[in-house]
Amino acid sequence: MENITAKKKFGQNFLKDETVLRKIVEAMPNNDNKIVEIGPGLGDLTKFLVDVKSVDAFEVDTDLCKLLQKKFEKEIATKQLRIHCGDVLTAWKSELIDESYDLVANLPYYIATNIILKALADPKCKNILVMVQLEVAEKFCAHEGDKVFGALSIITQSAGEARLVVKVPPTAFEPQPKIDSAVFLIQKQSDRFDKDFESMLRVAFTQPRKTLMKNLSAVYEKNILQEVFEKLSLAQTIRPHQVCTDDYHQLYKLTRSLDG
Ligand code: SAM
Repeated sequence: MENITAKKKFGQNFLKDETVLRKIVEAMPNNDNKIVEIGPGLGDLTKFLVDVKSVDAFEVDTDLCKLLQKKFEKEIATKQLRIHCGDVLTAWKSELIDESYDLVANLPYYIATNIILKALADPKCKNILVMVQLEVAEKFCAHEGDKVFGALSIITQSAGEARLVVKVPPTAFEPQPKIDSAVFLIQKQSDRFDKDFESMLRVAFTQPRKTLMKNLSAVYEKNILQEVFEKLSLAQTIRPHQVCTDDYHQLYKLTRSLDG
C-alpha cells in the first residue's frame, strides 16, 4: 500500500473496492458545484473526483499530504485540486470555500457526525455524499416511527432529504474495519434548523423511551407544554420517535412564543 502504514488514530481505513468507488461517483448530484473532500487518504476517491470537478481536500496526516502532493502534481498546478494539510475541524473555515460546494468523502468515523452537522449548517454546502459507519448512516436516513429515528434524522429532514446509497462490508477496505459501513446522500433543500432547534431536539431525545412531555419538561414549564401539545393534537403519552419533523418545528415555534 504505497509504503504507507495506516494510522489508527486518524481512522485510516482506505477504500480499495473499485465498484464502491464508482457507486459513490455515480451518486454525485449533477451540478456545477465544487467538491470538498475530507480525508483524501491515498487519493483513490480523489482521483475520480478531480476528473469531473474542482476539489478542495483536507487531510490531517502530513505523510499523506506529501504523497498526495506528488501524486496530483498536475491537478494541483492547474488548480483542479487544492490540498489543505491540517485538522479539518480547525482548518475548514467558511471563508476558505467561497462558492457552493458538495461534500463528498469517505469520512474518518471518529469525527463523522461532527463534520456532517457542520456541513448541514453551512448554507454554501448543497449536498452531502459520505461514507460512515452503517449504524450512523441509518440514523441520518431514518423516518418517523423507525426504531433509530432521532435528533440526527430530524436535523437531516429539516435540511433536505436523505437516502442510503450502498452498504459497504469491511472487505472493501484496507485495513479492514470491524464494522459495516454505508454511503448515504443528503440533498439539501431548505435551512429549517438552527442551533436552538438542535438543542431542543437533544432535550426531546434525552431518554428516548420516556415520553416526549417528560423529556421536555426538564426545560419548559408543564403548563406551556400542555397547551402546545393540545394545539398540535399530540397525546401526552407520545414518545419522541413518534413525532414527525414538521410537528417538531411547530412545537419549537410555539414553545418559544409562549415561553416569551
Ligand atoms: N478517502 C480515503 C479513502 O477513501 O480511502 C481515506 C478515508 S479514511 C476512512 C479517513 C481519512 O481522513 C484518512 O486519510 C485520515 O488521515 C483523514 N483524517 C482523519 N482525521 C482527520 C482530520 N481531523 N482532518 C482531516 N483529515 C482527517
